[in-house]
Amino acid sequence: MSLPLRHLTRSSSRLSSTFGSLSRLPWGASYTNGTRLQSSLLDIPVTADQTTLPDIDPSKLEIRRTTSPKSIPLSKDLVFGHTFTDHMLMVPWSAKSGWGVPRIEPYGPLSLEPSCTVLHYAQTIFEGMKAYRQADGTITLFRPDMNMKLRIFNGDAFLELIKRLVRLDSNWIPTEPGHSLYIRPTMIGTQRAIGVNPPTEALLYVICCPVGPYYPQGFKPVSLHGTTEYIRAAPGGTGAFKLGVNYAPGVMPQKAAAKLGYAQNLWLHGPEHYLTEVGTMNLFVVFKHPDGTHELVTPPLDGMILPGVTRDSVLSLARGHSNGTHKLNLPEKLVVTERSVSMKEVKSASENGSLVELFGAGTAAVITTVDKIGYMGEDVLIPTGEDGLGPISRTIWRELVGRQTGAIPSDWSVVVD
Ligand SMILES: *Cc1c(COP(=O)(O)O)cnc(C)c1O
Repeated sequence: MSLPLRHLTRSSSRLSSTFGSLSRLPWGASYTNGTRLQSSLLDIPVTADQTTLPDIDPSKLEIRRTTSPKSIPLSKDLVFGHTFTDHMLMVPWSAKSGWGVPRIEPYGPLSLEPSCTVLHYAQTIFEGMKAYRQADGTITLFRPDMNMKLRIFNGDAFLELIKRLVRLDSNWIPTEPGHSLYIRPTMIGTQRAIGVNPPTEALLYVICCPVGPYYPQGFKPVSLHGTTEYIRAAPGGTGAFKLGVNYAPGVMPQKAAAKLGYAQNLWLHGPEHYLTEVGTMNLFVVFKHPDGTHELVTPPLDGMILPGVTRDSVLSLARGHSNGTHKLNLPEKLVVTERSVSMKEVKSASENGSLVELFGAGTAAVITTVDKIGYMGEDVLIPTGEDGLGPISRTIWRELVGRQTGAIPSDWSVVVD
């Protein structure tokens, strides 16, 4: 996940950040290319008042267990994001006193005043990551450090608290293949005040959902609507962050795409109709060039693209293969590029047979393959294999899922002990 925190890292040097409250960072994003990936787990804001105010302190954790545990639904009945575990984690913050006592409590309603800033100005930012339970009972998190890159608090401390929550609710983690516990850290502005300002109070909380595979019947490629009348993100906007404001405006375009018979929006940018993202996933396209080279392309992190953990993982695996450090069952000649791709390029590749595949990547569904794009009144067709995957996505998916579940050992899998 990239916590609320993904975009809090806009200052490339933590020493140069000057916010003394949650203020300038969380709610007005300005994104510097790749900062999320450069920051380290231990980065916390170092400013006069931040250093004197308490950071998140796991040793202060207070736990109040539920007295009425819910019954855990059968895995086959799980609907993504509809079932929540018995407990939640909450850590309050205020500009005056810094991070407060972390609490794990029974999952339940929050008490907020109607004036709270989150309810008016959408001061909410979230993350999404997964925990897996291995056959021997070991619980692991997938690359949680990638989601903890928030400068406004100590990511290690917060991760420690998330582990405590996951351990407490570990009986909720389904063990069937493809199942996991989806973890949703969220931060909201809770100041009671009307007026657009950085909040002086906030709440960081974490809830968890047991989830099944996104595609229980195996891979089923989806169709996309190459959306030319609406946008998801724009240069200088907040598209690179999981801010609540980025998602509500996608609902109407999604309905419009569904009405035309397409499953998701393919978000395009500019007069060239550059491809950016698929629904709420990052996007990859594979071309085969005349010299036999395969090219795996994803749009660059230009501030409009959410710097997904899955995106980064796909890139690392493919680069590991192409530079020979970790060979996979992929074409010998594979180049991996982060560059812009236009609909014109995809359409002509589809027509001349050089388009190999196109897929989305994100924590929830891992990989989603695409079989057609409705674009300017026509369908651009995209090849998919009989199993619904393509030659690159098939291998990447296997490796990724292997590493996520722990079946393939890797340092991306972090044990919850
Ligand atoms: C969450 C998200 C992604 C995928 O990010 P992951 O870290 O891989 O889950 C991509 N695009 C958008 C818009 C997202 O919200």
